[in-house]
Amino acid sequence: MSNKNNSRNIPLPIKREVRQRCGFGCVICGFPLYEYDHMKEWSKVQEHKAEDITLLCDKHHKEVTTGLLPREKVFEANKNPYNLRKGSSSPLSLHFDDNSCEVDIGGNVFSANIKSQITEMIPLIIDGIPLVGFVLEDNQLFLNINLFDKFNNLVLQISNNELVYSTSPWDIELVGQTLTVREKARKFLIRITFEPPNKISIKKGRFLCNGVEILIDEDHMLITNNNMLVQGNFTENVQGGLIIGATSKPIGGFMRISKVNRYLGDSKKSLAWAKKMKEEFSD
Ligand SMILES: [Zn+2]
Repeated sequence: MSNKNNSRNIPLPIKREVRQRCGFGCVICGFPLYEYDHMKEWSKVQEHKAEDITLLCDKHHKEVTTGLLPREKVFEANKNPYNLRKGSSSPLSLHFDDNSCEVDIGGNVFSANIKSQITEMIPLIIDGIPLVGFVLEDNQLFLNINLFDKFNNLVLQISNNELVYSTSPWDIELVGQTLTVREKARKFLIRITFEPPNKISIKKGRFLCNGVEILIDEDHMLITNNNMLVQGNFTENVQGGLIIGATSKPIGGFMRISKVNRYLGDSKKSLAWAKKMKEEFSD
């Protein structure tokens, strides 16, 4: 069946190919919010070919359609996209701004309020490295995230609300409020939903740091190094959350694991174990 309206929708695999080729951002300025732009006039080509599509942010898209930015400049940038030249994206500012905050990681909920006098809330810390956290300052909130790949390279960083990602992952996609980073097809490095002014939730992910692996699913965190399932926890006004390894200064948290075997976790075995445990508990 042919549908003229639908025919303008770009198939998902083609969109991915375009994102990868363009470095997950506007080819001219690298901005992570973009549109898929047909470089050849649609009425003439009437087909979706990855090589004919590029990524442009709102501003540059508008400049091209109004004629203020010559098409040739887009062709040039498309051959040498901004983010691929730099190896990372241009920054995107997130609008977190409140006097309380909440982080949901696999159904474990961490919250804090400025009235409690705590100035930071860090639900995940490995070897003193904060992986996810908020800094609270007089009616201001600053989100901080450090996401590493299996080679311990930083692939996504949110530093005081400013988001930047490396172009090294297989796929990165920001759709609406949800940012998804994939290591390969169906393999999530993170799926994070930003709910400004004060909340984030992570329901899929794989936090890796110094040989520790924490897998996140809808309703749990699983530390694969020692088969530990972390489920259904709530903290309020606690500085730390799950703390693995040593920290240079003392941090209060709901769970501290000073030693785990590094690089020894077997994800497959651990996932099978977690599945079995959950089945047994649900009986
Ligand atoms: Zn742009």
